[in-house]
Amino acid sequence: MTEFSLHLNDDQSQIKDWIHQFAVDVIRPAAHEWDEREEFPFPIVQEAAKIGLYGIDFLMNGMADPTGLTLPVAIEEMFWGDAGIGMAIMGSGLAAAGIAGNGTQEQIIEWVPQCYGTPEKIALGAFCVSEPDAGSDVSSLRTRAIYDQANDEWVLNGTKAWITNGGIADVHVVVAAVDPELKSRGQASFIVPPNTKGLSMGQKYKKHGIKASHTAEVVLEDVRVPGSCLLGGREKLDAKLARAREGGHAGGKQPAMATFEATRPAVGAQALGVARAAYEYALEYAKERQAFGKAIIMNQAIAFKLANMAVEIDASRLLIWRAAWLAKNGGFKNGEGSMSKYYASETAVRVTEDAIQILGGYGYTREYPVERWHRDAKIHTIFEGTSEIQQLVIARAISGLRIE
Ligand SMILES: Cc1cc2nc3c(=O)[nH]c(=O)nc-3n(C[C@H](O)[C@H](O)[C@H](O)COP(=O)(O)OP(=O)(O)OC[C@H]3O[C@@H](n4cnc5c(N)ncnc54)[C@H](O)[C@@H]3O)c2cc1C
Repeated sequence: MTEFSLHLNDDQSQIKDWIHQFAVDVIRPAAHEWDEREEFPFPIVQEAAKIGLYGIDFLMNGMADPTGLTLPVAIEEMFWGDAGIGMAIMGSGLAAAGIAGNGTQEQIIEWVPQCYGTPEKIALGAFCVSEPDAGSDVSSLRTRAIYDQANDEWVLNGTKAWITNGGIADVHVVVAAVDPELKSRGQASFIVPPNTKGLSMGQKYKKHGIKASHTAEVVLEDVRVPGSCLLGGREKLDAKLARAREGGHAGGKQPAMATFEATRPAVGAQALGVARAAYEYALEYAKERQAFGKAIIMNQAIAFKLANMAVEIDASRLLIWRAAWLAKNGGFKNGEGSMSKYYASETAVRVTEDAIQILGGYGYTREYPVERWHRDAKIHTIFEGTSEIQQLVIARAISGLRIE
């Protein structure tokens, strides 16, 4: 077990500074443009790939860190730069995590690099769980996977909703029901390789925030993938289904949930980056802006808002670091991963709203970045488990009861 420490080691400090500089030089200057364009910022992600920020090595390096802190530290800086561009850089990581969490060693080696491509020709990954009628309730997926024994192929049919990089990704990881009666225990994850026939993009959503991140439906019509694209392999799936049919435990968690659980502190760190950006901006503004002959920060009403922002941001970071450390050192006991995501997300919404208030009318215009940060903050209370779902996970963990 690695000691928990609030002191970043040399590697972590260097990574933090390196990403902060990239956020200052490249991400922030591009944020407004890509928010307005509402398109995936390929040139910026390409820049990130060139310096090694978008790619398998960065992810592996972060995941290999025994303290668990490297990834949240890195993500906070990236999202301090901009959450939409941050998601564009991080989105493929969900697919990679889905493969790493459920795949065999061979599948991981074959497919995770293909979610990123090369700095010269970047690729994207998408992790497709949610459906129009199944978001929080991932046990009710309607997308079906049926095995065609004669051809050793799986045939996928269904519609996925709200998919980051959906339809523009090279590698889609799709969670589908193999035996719908078994609900979540009858589900499996599949790789849909690049250019597979039958996979298409449905509507592209026009969003409230993180507009630089592409979100769309993914339509699967008789999508045929080789048997080798079943993550984890046939033997493991058959054993799991047999146990579930006998009424025993399926062994391990359902595929979608396993991915989301492991990524929760990282999502908290995204929200934290947005909150810190807004707080820092509002603090400087409050020191400069004069009203009634003095800087507005000289009023307790403003200064106390800033004090609360600072407290909640630090509390978020402590929860995130604890969760990230626990994820590597002993695991969650009381829903600590959910606690960190829940608290940081709600904090980001509050802090960014207060930042708009501190900037007054200027805060409400698109000339200043705080209204964008407020729009961007909100997604964190919704995706990868809504705030209510995080509360449910925590409530169940602390009580040991199957609270509905
Ligand atoms: C920008 C964006 C990107 C996304 N990216 C991806 C992606 O890459 N891959 C993917 O698979 N999905 C993705 N999602 C989907 C996201 O995870 C879902 O939107 C989310 O899980 C909520 O599901 P839902 O929208 O169906 O809401 P619902 O599940 O319908 O929830 C609606 C409301 O009811 C509440 N609620 C539901 N059940 C309960 C309960 N038991 N107790 C209390 N309250 C409850 C929820 O908290 C929420 O407030 C993305 C969504 C967005 C908006």
